This record gives sequence, C-alpha cells and structure tokens, in this order.
Amino acid sequence: MTGRFAEGERVGVLTTEPLGRVLDYRAPEGGCALGDHVEVPLGPRRVLGVVWGPGEGSFDAARLRSVVRVLDAAPMRDEMRAFLLRAADYTLTPLPAMLRLATRAPGLGDSPSVRRVYRASGQPPARETDARLRVLDVLAAFGGAPVTLAELTAEAGVSSAVVKGLVKAGALLEQDAPRDLPYPRLDPAAAAVRLQGDQVAAADALVAAVAADRYSATLLKGVTGSGKTEVYLEAVAECLRRGRQALVLLPEIALTAEFLTRVEARFGARPAEWHSGVTATERRRLWRMVAEGGAQFVAGARSALFLPFRDLGLIVVDEEHDTSYKQEEGALYNARDMAVLRASICGCPVVLASATPSLESWVNADQGKYARLDLGARFGVAELPDMHAIDMRGEKLPANRWISEALARSVEARMARNEQSLLFLNRRGYAPVTICRACGHQIACDHCDARMVEHRFQKRLVCHQCGETKPILETCPACGVAGRMAPVGPGVERLAEEVAARFPQARVAVLSSDLFGSARALKEQIAAIAEGGADIIIGTQIVAKGHNFPLLTLVGVIDADLGLQGSDLRAAERTFQLVRQVAGRAGRAEKRGVALVQTYQPEHPVIRAILGGDEEAFWRAEAEERRAAAMPPFGRLAGIILSSPDLAQVFDLGAELARNDGALRRIGAQVFGPAPAPIARVRGRHRVRLLVKAAKGAPLQAAIAAWLAPVKLPANLRIAVDIDPQSF
Ligand code: ADP
Ligand code: ZN
Repeated sequence: MTGRFAEGERVGVLTTEPLGRVLDYRAPEGGCALGDHVEVPLGPRRVLGVVWGPGEGSFDAARLRSVVRVLDAAPMRDEMRAFLLRAADYTLTPLPAMLRLATRAPGLGDSPSVRRVYRASGQPPARETDARLRVLDVLAAFGGAPVTLAELTAEAGVSSAVVKGLVKAGALLEQDAPRDLPYPRLDPAAAAVRLQGDQVAAADALVAAVAADRYSATLLKGVTGSGKTEVYLEAVAECLRRGRQALVLLPEIALTAEFLTRVEARFGARPAEWHSGVTATERRRLWRMVAEGGAQFVAGARSALFLPFRDLGLIVVDEEHDTSYKQEEGALYNARDMAVLRASICGCPVVLASATPSLESWVNADQGKYARLDLGARFGVAELPDMHAIDMRGEKLPANRWISEALARSVEARMARNEQSLLFLNRRGYAPVTICRACGHQIACDHCDARMVEHRFQKRLVCHQCGETKPILETCPACGVAGRMAPVGPGVERLAEEVAARFPQARVAVLSSDLFGSARALKEQIAAIAEGGADIIIGTQIVAKGHNFPLLTLVGVIDADLGLQGSDLRAAERTFQLVRQVAGRAGRAEKRGVALVQTYQPEHPVIRAILGGDEEAFWRAEAEERRAAAMPPFGRLAGIILSSPDLAQVFDLGAELARNDGALRRIGAQVFGPAPAPIARVRGRHRVRLLVKAAKGAPLQAAIAAWLAPVKLPANLRIAVDIDPQSF
C-alpha cells in the first residue's frame, strides 16, 4: 500500500462523530493520502475525519460520496494512528472519541475563507455608510495589521456583507492569513547548570536514554527540591541537540510562570504551552507547529499527549503520581499510563518524576520494568524539613479552633524572622457541613449524594460534586426553625478567620482553586507569595504541587488524618503522597524547614511513615497488602459505571449484568456489585458500579467488550468503562 489514493478511489475515513466508524468515501479531486485530515459529508452535515485506510466496502459504488476537501494540516502520522488504536483498545473508549482528542486544533476544520484577513487599501470607498466607517475605524485601530473576518465583524458590529462590500469597492484588501509562526529556538547550551552529587549520574543516565533512541521507562525519584527538574531538563537538552522534540507533562496547576521562566533561563526561550488557559489562536499555532517541527519543546497538561509531534524524542511526566492525570470524563484515561504507551509506540524514552511515586510505578521499578534513579539529598544547603507530629488528643482547643498551641508558637516565631508559614487543610470553602442545631438536619445537594459546603466568600452553599449552589440558609428546610443553622468543621476560609484572629498583624493569603477566577489570577498570586507578599499562606492541595516559596520555612498540616478515613485501598498511599508533598514545601532555599503534622492517631503506620519512617519499608508493606489481595498493580480492575435518573433501573441492569457474567468467568474474572459508585449521584443521575477483577495477564478488555456487547441500553441509561479505576 502506497498510502496515496487517486481521485475517485475508495478510501476509509474515520470521523470524530460519536457513533462514527470507518466509512467509505471517494478520494477527492487531486486524490488524498493516508492520514490526511479531511472534511466529509455525513447525512446533511460536513464533519471532520482522517483518512484511515483503503475503503472497506461499507457502501456500494452508487451510494459512495466524495471527500469534500483535504484540510490544510500535516497528515496524521502512522505512529499517532497506532497510538489512538491502542489507547482506544486499552481504555475501551470508542475510537472517534480518541480521534477527537487528537484533532483538538482550533480552526482545523475552518473553511479557507475563515483564514482570510483584511487590511485597508488606503483608498476610501465611493459610498460611505456608518457601518463602513466603523470597519475602517477598527482597521485603523489595529494599526494596519491584518484582521480576521470574525474579529472585524465583532469589533465593528457589522455583518460580513459589509466587509465583503468594502472589498468589492476597493477599500479593503483581502489576503490569506499569514502562516503560524514557529516558536523561538531553544539553545541547549544557553545556561548549563553544574549538576552535583546524585544529579550527575541521574542526568547521564537520562541523556544516554535519549541518545539510545529507543523506548525505555525510568522512574526519577527524589524529594522535592532534590533537582529532578534540573536533571530531566538535561535530557530535554539532549533531545534539542539531536533536533528532536520533547514533551513535559505537568499537572495543570503546576504549569506556572515559574516553570516557564526556569526553562527560559536554561534554554534562552520558553517552551510552547498547552493547557486549558491557552487561547484558541495559540493552541492552533501550537498544534500546527508541533506537527511541522516548529515547536521543539512543549510543556502541557495531560491532553498534550495527543499533540501531533513530528519527531518525539522524550516524554517526561512530572509529579507522575498526581491524580489529576486521570481524565474522569469522556474518554477515561490515565495520562501517565498513556505516556508510557505513546513512548513505547514512538520508540522514545519516558521519564516519570516524583517525590512520592504512585504504588504502580514503585512496583514497576521494583520489578525491573522501569529503571529507577534516586536523587538523595536536597540541592545545596536546603535539607528535608524536620517532621514532628502534634498529638491533638492532648490539645484542649476551644470550639471552632484548629491550630494547636505548638503550631501557633511556631508561626509566631517565623513572623518574627520574616519567614513564611503554610497552613495546609485539604478542604475548600468555609465549613464542610451545615447542620440545623434544632433538628440535626444536614444540608445536602438535591442532585448528588453529597453535603453542601458553605463558601462564605461566594456567599453560597456549593456542591463539590456537581457545582450546584444554594443561598446560605437562615431557616432549616426540614423543621422550619430559624436562626439555628450552624457551620460545622473547618474549611480553608474558616481557618483563615482563626488565623486573622490569632495573628492580626499577619498578611494572609488563601490559596484554594475556587477562590480564583482564572488560572492566571492564581499564578499571579503564587508569584506574589514567592516574592514575600504574605506571612501566612493557607492552602488546599493546590499548594502541594511544584511551587517554590523560598521564604517558606514552616508547614503546618492541620488535619493529617483527613485522607485516612473511608475504605479506599489507596487512602494510605494518597495521604502519604499529599502530606509528604506539602511538607516538602518548607525550607527549599538556604533555610532549614520544619513540618508540624497535627494528628489524632500518631501511631498510625501511615502517619509514622510520613514522619520520616523508612519510606521504602512503607512502599513494600503497601505493595505486600495489594499483592495479598490480588489488587492492582498485582491484579487488574475495571469499573463499569451505570448511570440513570432512575435508581431502580440502574440497579436492575447492574444485577442482570452481574448474573450474566459468562464472558468474564471464561477468563477467570470475578464481578462485584452492583454497589453505589464512589460518587453515587451526580447531577441527578444515580450511579452504580460493578467492579471486575481479573488476574494480571488476563485479557480483561476483550472479556468486558464481549460481556457488554449484547446489552440493550434503555434510552436514558449510560454505561462507562473505567479501566484501572482510581478508587477501589
Ligand atoms: P525538584 O524538581 O526535585 O523539586 P528542582 O529541580 O526544582 O527540584 O531543584 C530545586 C531548586 O534547586 C531549584 O531552584 C533549582 O534551580 C535548584 N537546583 C537544583 N540543582 C541545582 C544545581 N545543580 N545547580 C544549581 N541549582 C540547582
Ligand atoms: Zn450536587
């Protein structure tokens, strides 16, 4: 197969339509090639697709329609098609949904006319109307730069006919939009750092992995501040020297100015950014430049994994344990696992970096599937913070106070030295529960199985599951008594009140994702804090991720036990990761840090491990427990989530599926449930979950596909398969 199809030849096109599959079309005038992005007719509409292979005979010749046109974009590479196929198979996601992730280039399907731009010719139109004059004013305001039709009509408040009229009248010049510009070149030698100690060998190993030009996976483990970023940037440098592209994935919230300026300091220019805060124009440019080779280095959130790299030489997944790498809506995939898959298909190295790796990655390294590189000490004079537990059972705190005496004294000492303190509480809002003191009624969401959380800043009760809000109530909706509604327990906003009362002179900053209108506002706040703009920082888990606060020398963990409640097998792992990560924020520069961990169960094994017990022993014990239970990563799990507004209906279908489990039993898999899903009701839809458990090497996906194939779904019932669920 040559990969080219002559005009009129039968080609198979995969579209991004939800029910799409590969359909036959005729190649358009001029022919088309394998991987071409094309526009095809589907029913009355025109949709985006990719030439996927030769036609498969899905229509007879008489009904065959023609590809409308080949889009102006680099063809999808074989490697990307292979990746999408494997990812779709692995996650049991329909291929069109995977294709949508790979074609998220704004304007990809735009007709060429949208890509036209306009300038004034300098010759006034013979007939001047108000509308025409407004258009000319707008163009003058842009100072002669070419303007798109969309911008022009929006700014001038005119229809496109007015603009076209001006072109006809000779007052405007119409031309093709300039090509997207490549990103500034990065120079691998711009400002090399002198690596030290363990860093040298680790960087050498990663550089060798890039030079080897084949798949390898490495776990890069080191406490926060040990220089992991510095080390993997050496691998990026090697990639740049070889003229290949590098991708660094970061949890969205860690994509801060700090990272970008650091890269700029190292390589003389910033990487290209890909995340939800980037404008459509920039995303369009990035998508094209990645495909054409005009972007050497991309720093992005999880979806950057689906960018059309021309010559990918390295993938780094920073903070690889981070739960936000799991996409929980639409295509359910874990970007860390998909990064490993993509690297193995591209034949390039993948580096997973973390201070507190996921148990999966720890086990993969332990079993020799991944190489492991450890960075021991922190860079320079900064050391790991001193970790101490504060036993809260001995504290006689008055009602509605959460800061122990010892912690308060430490904060005061920092303030006296102009150092910063961070108080960590992983709860957004003011109070997690609102209760009626007269009847005990708790305010819950009408649509979800969740309590409403008071947000005083927004002056609303908010459901953290679905985002539904209600006014803060004066009167109990259950018993009708007024004035007895009371907030119970602390959220960061309430903690901020206690802080304001105890440390009235302190400048306090509250960092919680919901308190910022935009990612940019949050980044600005973080930058201001780093420069010393606050004495006390109060934060939820967003502070745990990769920010450098050089003046911070004290971390107080308000409630270390919070994550240990509940029955989730991952609770220990998560609590360990989160508290360790937060504690690591203290003492990054020359000053030694202290972490004080408030807990009611200081003898709990997880708390002991957090406080500097033998970390490897902790992971081994966790791994043993999972092995004994044949749970991931020693066994395989999949969640089948059924949802519907009708609870009985989802349970009935769940029970029926559990009974007809022949396809699963054939591979030795077991099915558990139906039981309420971890989030049992969202936006008015009841969710039940079946858990399928299989042995490590079992063909789980194929069995699930066979098991679910005969299911006839009632109209409003939905079914989602979650391979490797986060909670179990
Ligand atoms: P991690 O990614 O493990 O948290 P970083 O790479 O961010 O660690 O390093 C922590 C701090 O120490 C950063 O400010 C970094 O620039 C600095 N640093 C680390 N190693 C070196 C080095 N060899 N030379 C100069 N600065 C370094
Ligand atoms: Zn809700």
